[in-house]
Amino acid sequence: MGSINSLIRENVKSLRPYSSARDEYKGGSAVFLDANENPWFAPLNRYPDPRQRNLKKIISKLKSVNEENIFLGNGSDEAIDIIIRAFCEPGTDNIVSVDPSYGMYEVTAAISNVEYRRVQLGEDFSLDHNRLRQSSDQGTKIIFLCSPNNPTGNSFSNEDIRRIFTWFKGLLIVDEAYIDFSDKPGFLDELDRFDHLVVLQTLSKAWGRAGIRLGMAFGDKEVIEAMNKIKPPYNINTLTIDEAIRTLRNVKEMNRRVKEITEAREMLAVQLGKLPMVRKVYPSDANFLLVRVDDADKLYGYLSDKKIIVRNRTTATGCENCLRITIGKGEEIRLLLEALQGF
Ligand SMILES: *Cc1c(COP(=O)(O)O)cnc(C)c1O
Repeated sequence: MGSINSLIRENVKSLRPYSSARDEYKGGSAVFLDANENPWFAPLNRYPDPRQRNLKKIISKLKSVNEENIFLGNGSDEAIDIIIRAFCEPGTDNIVSVDPSYGMYEVTAAISNVEYRRVQLGEDFSLDHNRLRQSSDQGTKIIFLCSPNNPTGNSFSNEDIRRIFTWFKGLLIVDEAYIDFSDKPGFLDELDRFDHLVVLQTLSKAWGRAGIRLGMAFGDKEVIEAMNKIKPPYNINTLTIDEAIRTLRNVKEMNRRVKEITEAREMLAVQLGKLPMVRKVYPSDANFLLVRVDDADKLYGYLSDKKIIVRNRTTATGCENCLRITIGKGEEIRLLLEALQGF
């Protein structure tokens, strides 16, 4: 067993996972009298495949990652929770991440009673490598990096991210929820090089399937095995599996919409930059723009009154008076700009 094994919590290592009916009989069609299912109401009367083999086959091809290196969660949020519970001993271990970033890392760590350390980003929201290093210690099991980052929209330099492996012995989790909106290569190609790397992706953003809840974690076989061991047996339901398979077959449609969204993003950035109350539009590799304005609370209230809802991020570190605006359809953008021009 390699160094991953030494990072896994002792109780998880010794855990004998629940073995479901579908785990114990792996053959094809048969008379199924093993899972106390109702024989009527097919096909949803049956439990889903706990290992989601058909779906993983498609993801494996699409991402060029072996099936044994893929974990599927009920959204990335479940993958985040499961990885924390597999690796972080409550009250002892800690997690390091940057600030501002995706709020779920901190909340999920807190639910598991795992200390969460925030490392402030630089002025332009770039990674401060030295501060990251200084904040990590022997108890740091996980570093979360969201790139492109939410809510700032920028990506961290791949070189900066790679440098973390020169000193960090825990798991580096790169959350690539927005990677399809970026021109920069993600980290999937580097999984072979770094066995302590885990990449998170999701169907919620570029694929337009936030409603079905499907998140993907890619990593070393030992990491994926530890996660599989503690996941609920049927965490991905049949409707989600079927819809995900349909969705992932249509890469063309996804690419077409992503192109539309990124073009609209660049157009909106220019238009916003011309408005008198806008101080700065931050560059974005995602499907949203972070915009600094004169008075975020006031502008947020004004837009809400007009039934245009954006995200007020003014309380996030380094985001004073910033609104986060998701790129909508052309008509939605037009309504937004019209409202802003009347402010
Ligand atoms: C939206 C988002 C996700 C997606 O989470 P799901 O649970 O898969 O919907 C993950 N990470 C970040 C940073 C996000 O902004």
